[in-house]
Amino acid sequence: MNILAIGAHQDDVEFMCAGTLARLKKKGHRIFIATVANGSCGSEEYSVKEIVRIRKEEARKSAKLLDAPYYCCGIDDLMVDNIASIRIKVATILRKVNPDIVFTHSVEDYMIDHVSTSTLVKDSCFCAPMPNFPAKGKPIPHTPYLYYGVPLEGKDMYGNKIKPTILIDITKEIPFKGKMLACHKSQRNWLRKQHGMDQYVETMKDWSRQLGKFIKCSYAEGFRQHLGHGFPQDNILNKILK
Ligand SMILES: [Zn+2]
Repeated sequence: MNILAIGAHQDDVEFMCAGTLARLKKKGHRIFIATVANGSCGSEEYSVKEIVRIRKEEARKSAKLLDAPYYCCGIDDLMVDNIASIRIKVATILRKVNPDIVFTHSVEDYMIDHVSTSTLVKDSCFCAPMPNFPAKGKPIPHTPYLYYGVPLEGKDMYGNKIKPTILIDITKEIPFKGKMLACHKSQRNWLRKQHGMDQYVETMKDWSRQLGKFIKCSYAEGFRQHLGHGFPQDNILNKILK
């Protein structure tokens, strides 16, 4: 199967689902990674042009660990909106990859690019199979399975806990997840200043440990499946990874 993970920014996929992607890769599935934004605001030391180039390289390096191609819609940070012109770009990536399973952000996430990416991906999954939708490429044969990750700190903007309904044990994959995240060197300094998050990789591990508690394992990743009209209703992820 083809598995596509779409984040807003270059390190989001690693936080959200790199362990699950590694498990799927081990089962012989093909992995693809994409971002909607180009990472333009993810630095205080580099110009937009420099940081966009740096982050593209970091994302490629990380994706390469899964033998995954990396695609980017090229939208500037904090400019991601669910508008037709960007839906066309996301649907074009979907048509290029022809995914069976797609991962993206939870719609309750903490910032505009994540929230917009969530709805952009959901709506693009719906549009990409339609022959008359003006994305490039051949329409995909079916609407893919769609899974949402857990928002940052597992809470919505009111502080309500978001409990994932699907938990994947990534205990064996945690060193690999850390290795992927460590490819995003430019982000450590930036996150320390902007979010008070030092120890970039340790923060990811802490969060994976919290999710692990739900299923009594050391580390986990959590998801909820999109079960709206027109989307596949069975939980293929549990079937593949049980
Ligand atoms: Zn992000």
